[in-house]
Amino acid sequence: MDPSHTPKKPHIALIPSAGMGHLTPFLRIASLLLSRNCIITLFTPKSTISNAESDHISFFLTKYPQVKHLEFDIIPVQASGNQDPFFVQYKAISRSSHLLRPLLSSSPYPFSAIFCDLLTARSIAAISADLSIPYYVLISTSAKFLSFMLYLPFLVSNPDKFSINSTEVQIPGLTPLPMKSIPLPFVNPNHLLASSIIENVGSIPEAKGILVNSFKQFEAETFSALNNCKVLNNLPQVLPIGPLQAYDIENDESQCLSWLDNQPEKSVVYVNFGSRTAMSNDQIKELGHGLDRSGCRFLWVVKTSTVDKEDKEGLEELLGNSFLERVKSKAMVVKSWVNQEKILEHSATGGFISHCGWNSVTEAAARGMPVLAWPIHGDQRVNAEVLQEAGLGILEKTWGMGNERLVKQEEIAKRVSEFMNDVELRNRAMKVGEEARKAIEHGGSSDKAIMEIIEKLS
Ligand code: UDP
Ligand code: UDP
Repeated sequence: MDPSHTPKKPHIALIPSAGMGHLTPFLRIASLLLSRNCIITLFTPKSTISNAESDHISFFLTKYPQVKHLEFDIIPVQASGNQDPFFVQYKAISRSSHLLRPLLSSSPYPFSAIFCDLLTARSIAAISADLSIPYYVLISTSAKFLSFMLYLPFLVSNPDKFSINSTEVQIPGLTPLPMKSIPLPFVNPNHLLASSIIENVGSIPEAKGILVNSFKQFEAETFSALNNCKVLNNLPQVLPIGPLQAYDIENDESQCLSWLDNQPEKSVVYVNFGSRTAMSNDQIKELGHGLDRSGCRFLWVVKTSTVDKEDKEGLEELLGNSFLERVKSKAMVVKSWVNQEKILEHSATGGFISHCGWNSVTEAAARGMPVLAWPIHGDQRVNAEVLQEAGLGILEKTWGMGNERLVKQEEIAKRVSEFMNDVELRNRAMKVGEEARKAIEHGGSSDKAIMEIIEKLS
């Protein structure tokens, strides 16, 4: 480095989209950048959809008071009654992102870069060009699902190659994806989610880089295809920077951790379908009896509605008192937010039944925790395939997606018991954990990628 050049502290604007799945990687990268001497301004809409989001933003700001927080108004989007409130909020944030322009241009300490979500890329690209602030896109899903989204505009313009009747989807440079793994909304270009993605991926080539919360060894084929111009020939560099680590937060509302302290090593199967994925009440009941009949100890976080503010039904009402009484000597069943990172780290946890939201997958990968994948919607089945190929877990394909069919308690009991006793899987998952740790340690592939960006911006 030229000795006369004193590196300046990069000032980075972080602009997440809606929902915990999108907020989480932004808060994690913020904590990482702060530890590397960057200055952070966090932009969030004035109102969030879930309590989990507003709680986490508050926790984060209390922990890092040096972060500047700017809230912006969002222009409401007309939505029909049955649309997913998170999809509606994605669209509203995207439509309102131009309101960030004055906030980005008037900072007394000029911005060195903007890190935005894929779902705001189009408006941020325009602001970035206008204000000459480089922008990077932080991706909150797998590199494989990213490849699918990047290729979606081509797919939807070729209905003979991409329709509900196709058996697989060909993306150049990648092993074909089974059509069964593609979420239905994506097959309809007019769907709120598909149209938001198509609208925004067109601006990706203007970004300075695409950051993915994944690591090279976890998705080697995909990173190679993306960076060798196979998927699209005009992409900026795609940089694996994960698994992003949690910043320390004390937000366990349950007694789960003290309960785990009293359980034998690796004896507990942890069941959690993330922050916004609810099963039908019938499926929840079958799952409960299946877990009971598996003979395993279990820690189960039950969720009955997409938005946490609406989750009102009590456990007794849902599962019955006799069920709760019967399982209480070997299980902890809760209906509140738990500290998943701490649960996955606990020595008593031996396996994770997950919907495969990408944050959950990366959290399991970081700890070499075996996953029994039960994807329900969105990118989850593609993510489940990624983790199965990497050796972290198994995907029980016969269980289908969403509420395609009622998976019976006998099937669940058998699969869960096999899963918890699968020594080979446990060993494979441990190796994934070692690779994840190497990627983020000093000089590892993900660490180098993030350091290169910081140096560029200094
Ligand atoms: N999470 C948690 N406790 C809960 C539910 C979720 O800590 O009770 C966290 C989880 O660790 C993850 C995030 O919330 O970091 C959920 O993101 P993910 O991408 O896994 O799934 P989504 O909720 O977006 O479907
Ligand atoms: N049940 C089940 N599998 C089991 C145990 C119970 O499907 O392993 C069903 C049972 O048939 C009943 C409901 O779950 O319809 C409630 O059973 P539980 O033993 O929890 O309470 P009960 O109503 O028998 O007091």
